[in-house]
Amino acid sequence: MASPPPTVSSSATATDLVIDISDLSTRFGDHVVHRNINLQVRRAEVFAIIGGSGSGKSTLLREMILLQQPSSGHIKVLGVDLKGLSREAALGLRLRWGVMFQHGGLFGSLTVLENIGLPLREHTKLSDAEIDVIAAAKLALTGLKPEVGAQYPAQLSGGMMKRASLARALALDPELLFLDEPTAGLDPQSAGGADELVLRLRDQGGLTIVMISHDLDLLWQVTDRVAVLGDGTLQAVGAMAELSQMDNPLIRPFFEGARGRAAQTAAQHPVQPKESSSKPK
Ligand code: ADP
Ligand code: MG
Repeated sequence: MASPPPTVSSSATATDLVIDISDLSTRFGDHVVHRNINLQVRRAEVFAIIGGSGSGKSTLLREMILLQQPSSGHIKVLGVDLKGLSREAALGLRLRWGVMFQHGGLFGSLTVLENIGLPLREHTKLSDAEIDVIAAAKLALTGLKPEVGAQYPAQLSGGMMKRASLARALALDPELLFLDEPTAGLDPQSAGGADELVLRLRDQGGLTIVMISHDLDLLWQVTDRVAVLGDGTLQAVGAMAELSQMDNPLIRPFFEGARGRAAQTAAQHPVQPKESSSKPK
């Protein structure tokens, strides 16, 4: 499909919308999880979805990546309506996004390098040698040392596992990257490195990132806009600074308490992508 060259126009046009959700509702039996959600993600944004436990974040993500169907409404991803896609069209779309699942999803019987190369082996005609070169580059991009490529997933720490999973999600050079809880379960030091990693990916240009996260530091440091789910509906969409000013009882709790304030203070000293992997503290 021929698409027009990118323009420098700053107004959001249809082609700038990487995700366009309209009137989406999701029910499980008579349990309504989403009621009339309308949501747009623009090209090159770092966008997060937050909300209390059970507010429907994972379900919405699963609907965006063709793992589940909403009860009604439409989702367009990269300009394609997800409803009634042929198998070929669905595969074509899946090749254009990468997903880092919460628990990694790496194959235990394959080395890290083989795991990262797997999408290339399945979907391209590249030689094994070429695949290894690309897989090694993705490994390096996520900050893992070359020798980690020869290890098996069981030998990795939680933080390394997430990075390896991210490297695999990047194997096919996606336009769109979905991250489900990229820092959940990590010690603060590994989680801190995720800020720099997301910023580095974004700054490489063009990549749109959609994530689910509870990590206030990450949210303050890297997101352009954040959508808050609560009570079955979209409570608000905005930059963290905007959300932090809102007087909504379903939003306020995110910004209250010592952790909320600490993250906000830290955000006044934003991290920069940098060469050195060591971070103070
Ligand atoms: P979150 O990720 O925000 O914690 P989920 O999207 O996982 O929330 O779940 C939202 C609600 O939908 C929860 O009440 C959950 O129990 C329910 N739910 C999710 N998936 C299913 C399913 N396949 N069948 C029935 N209920 C489900
Ligand atoms: Mg969830």
